[in-house]
Amino acid sequence: MRTAVYPGSFDPVTLGHLDIIERSARIVDELVVGVLNNNSKNPLFSVKERVNMLKEVTSHLSNVRIESFDGLLVDFAVRCHAAVVVRGLRAITDFEYELQMSQTNRIMCPDLDTIFLTTDLEYAYLSSSIVREVAHYGGDISAFVPEAIVERVLEKFVGENSFGGPENEQD
Ligand code: ADP
Repeated sequence: MRTAVYPGSFDPVTLGHLDIIERSARIVDELVVGVLNNNSKNPLFSVKERVNMLKEVTSHLSNVRIESFDGLLVDFAVRCHAAVVVRGLRAITDFEYELQMSQTNRIMCPDLDTIFLTTDLEYAYLSSSIVREVAHYGGDISAFVPEAIVERVLEKFVGENSFGGPENEQD
């Protein structure tokens, strides 16, 4: 049985993430989406909320399960008995960091390979931080995230003023 992990922050899950999940679930027997519990990124959604949203939007995929993890990706992959890590590549700007991470992971765990799926052109511009930014200013995010979570993202910004913008972080 070939198991892969697809790690990320998913803060929140976007249609670009869902596209990668659906495509990689067709390639492997089992896909474990790993939600990184990374407090230093000061996430908009708690890890529990991110896991629940992912569960909801992947409920049609029988070979996908959602888990959270702390610490090193290689340790999480070993716990999942996964030999493959899936990552999405949007643009050349993703490449340098992703290459460095996959090489580092192979040094730590030589049996763990990373495969990269190129983003569907429709979602090449899309990131969770763009979604947070548009939602913060009350914009329409229905083209960016699964319909089921649109309201949940907008609710996070109800009552906020529109000065300053969300955390100025890249993802
Ligand atoms: P991280 O903090 O690990 O980058 P993200 O949740 O931002 O977590 O992204 C998780 C994975 O999904 C990464 O491999 C990223 O390149 C990929 N990804 C992000 N946005 C998109 C998108 N629009 N289309 C395809 N892949 C994407």
